[in-house]
Amino acid sequence: MASVNHLRVSYSGSASSPGQFPRDGLPEVAFLGRSNVGKSSLLNALVGARGLARVSGDPGRTRLVNFFRVSGAERPGGAGRADLYLVDLPGYGYAKAPREVRDRFESLATSYLAGRPPLRLCVLIVDARHEPSEGDEALTAWLDHHRLAYVVAANKTDKLGRGEVARRAQSLVRGLARTARAVVPVSAERRTGIEDLWNVVRGAAFATLAAREQGQ
Ligand code: GDP
Repeated sequence: MASVNHLRVSYSGSASSPGQFPRDGLPEVAFLGRSNVGKSSLLNALVGARGLARVSGDPGRTRLVNFFRVSGAERPGGAGRADLYLVDLPGYGYAKAPREVRDRFESLATSYLAGRPPLRLCVLIVDARHEPSEGDEALTAWLDHHRLAYVVAANKTDKLGRGEVARRAQSLVRGLARTARAVVPVSAERRTGIEDLWNVVRGAAFATLAAREQGQ
């Protein structure tokens, strides 16, 4: 997993309103999913950074949009290195949260997703063991409506046998993830599938850059 372990990552800040999103135009890849699905664990597994672990473990930050800058990420096809942001969106599906609190989380996440030109890809994290929730279904329909590209990361596969992982992935491809670019089985805990996910992330982040340069 050399390409994953060598990443340099720094916390760039948290936004509570769109005016606080970065303005430097670097490509962004957003991570979203129901709370408790393992979003923080997966981000930590991807970048292996202590600072990130600390930030995403802070309960106050789970309501904000958090930006992490990855420096010198390898672009696909040996095309050198470049920077991108991994964006940690608030978790959804807080069943016990009051309606107005839920609405506030959702409005910040949707104002990010619906109006963010640097956004290249969304990574929707689901629990590989469970059927998708209504919230997951509503979200993929919403992403399609807004023509946002997404992949599904099926986490916690360490809790399943190998055959079951393949069956669950197939069922996602036919169901929730039928409009996704890919379904990537992962385990944040065992760190399996992490390099596959990273390759999808950097491929999407730098795709337009590579295409533009080839056209020159
Ligand atoms: P978040 O709310 O989506 O950020 O979820 P967390 O990263 O805080 O994880 C929620 C719980 O799921 C914690 O108890 C984690 O230890 C556990 N968890 C996260 N990823 C995995 C995984 O790949 N496998 C297993 N078995 N547990 C996981």
